[in-house]
Amino acid sequence: MHFSELGLNPAILKAVTEAGYESPTPIQAQAIPHIMAGLDVMGAAQTGTGKTAAFTLPILHRLMAHANTSASPARHPVRGLVLAPTRELADQIYQNLQQYATYTALRSAVVFGGMDMNPQTQALRAGVELLVATPGRLLDHVQQKTLNLSQVSILVLDEADRMLDMGFLPDLQRIVNLLPSSRQSLLFSATFSPEIRKLAKTFLNDKPVTVEVARRNATAENLTQKLYRVDSPELKRQAVIHLVREEKLEQVIVFTNTKIGASRLARELIREGIAADAIHGDKSQNERLATLERFKNNEVIVLVATDVAARGLDIAELPAVINFDMPHSPEDYVHRIGRTGRAGASGLALSLMVATEERQVAGVEALIGKSLGRERLALVAPAHAVSSRSFNDRGPRSSSSYSGAQSSRAPASAKPPAMPADPIFYAPYDDSSSSKGAASGPPSDAPKTPGGVPQPGGAASVAAIRSSALLGVRRPANPKSVLLGGKPSDKSADS
Ligand code: AMP
Repeated sequence: MHFSELGLNPAILKAVTEAGYESPTPIQAQAIPHIMAGLDVMGAAQTGTGKTAAFTLPILHRLMAHANTSASPARHPVRGLVLAPTRELADQIYQNLQQYATYTALRSAVVFGGMDMNPQTQALRAGVELLVATPGRLLDHVQQKTLNLSQVSILVLDEADRMLDMGFLPDLQRIVNLLPSSRQSLLFSATFSPEIRKLAKTFLNDKPVTVEVARRNATAENLTQKLYRVDSPELKRQAVIHLVREEKLEQVIVFTNTKIGASRLARELIREGIAADAIHGDKSQNERLATLERFKNNEVIVLVATDVAARGLDIAELPAVINFDMPHSPEDYVHRIGRTGRAGASGLALSLMVATEERQVAGVEALIGKSLGRERLALVAPAHAVSSRSFNDRGPRSSSSYSGAQSSRAPASAKPPAMPADPIFYAPYDDSSSSKGAASGPPSDAPKTPGGVPQPGGAASVAAIRSSALLGVRRPANPKSVLLGGKPSDKSADS
């Protein structure tokens, strides 16, 4: 199918063509006609499947009837509202939106916490048809009476599962109470858990259309997964350096379970001459966006990240990820490695473990249904590293329980030749394993709401759908739209 067959407004189609998209992804092909027809839709899709365009394109199409160039704010009420769990995801949706709206007169804006409210307020006062927001900051604006939601005719809850995980349900309820009851509602989620179905019952029409394309808990076929065991936590840093050099990795996200671990590893890699930086919940929004930009521009080779900071990041064709710490939740493993080996690109997912992480490894293996092996990485720690504290400080450190040791050997190249499209995008959604390997709670560095609710980020897989996509490709900005930046406020939580 070609995009032109969907019947999208020519102004939107022009932007789609310029983006280099030829045919819709499965979620787009399924969802766009229903959304264009004004139906409520519940979509099971992760980041990386093209879900953002699946809802933004038909929303723009529907709102074209209201597009106008009047300077009067009254002529530009908020008609479409997209709620996202994290700042990064909100910003990415907004970037997509402004790209697709380039040739329309529709205005868009994004508001999220951690940024000065004033520029956001000014943009809202000027009037925008489409608003992307994180729930807490949206309510801040409602409270300040800078935002009127009485004309919203389309609502999107993106990464609804993450929003529930992050304790946003009360905020969502408050927001939905402010919207007209007669509206179109769309809900996207990586999973259709009972909680999500309940949420859909509350916020969507009686009979939403269900579109399901992304299978959960599956790992891409064209992904090489390797697990290395090292003798002590202190040796993990050496292992990362070894792997980055041996594999000649040019772009790799290294996942740690803690903010402190992330900062510390980045510092130590820099000391070893490796271009590294860390993103985690303690960094300001501006710092995080700047680091991500440097990573996309190849100025940073190793991006050390916590799960919270990394979720929802749109980084196409990432060749490799390394799990410095095994994640507490097996599902986070799937999200982490889903950042590589997507749609036509091959990837390398390397994990490091010490003896005390056997339980997490077993949980991952149960979830993905296969053994990761246990290759021993024999490394000698430099004296200063041995005497330093452990990175993850999780209980006694012993390597004596291992058996079947193999010698260290460099795995295959980080960039094997491209493969055909990843079947994960086409496989039917499989909810049967949703309770397997249940998450053991949000990562320990989850930013907290003022009420103390941990806030992990949005769903995880990274896109490599865009056929021409390469790391570092930047989208043209639409001068009509406003990215509401500014200096970070004291409020570091995403509220
Ligand atoms: P998303 O799942 O919305 O995060 O999208 C992932 C990536 O796929 C983004 O970089 C989009 O620009 C890209 N993309 C979305 N739709 C298409 C399409 N139909 N063809 C190629 N690339 C696409």
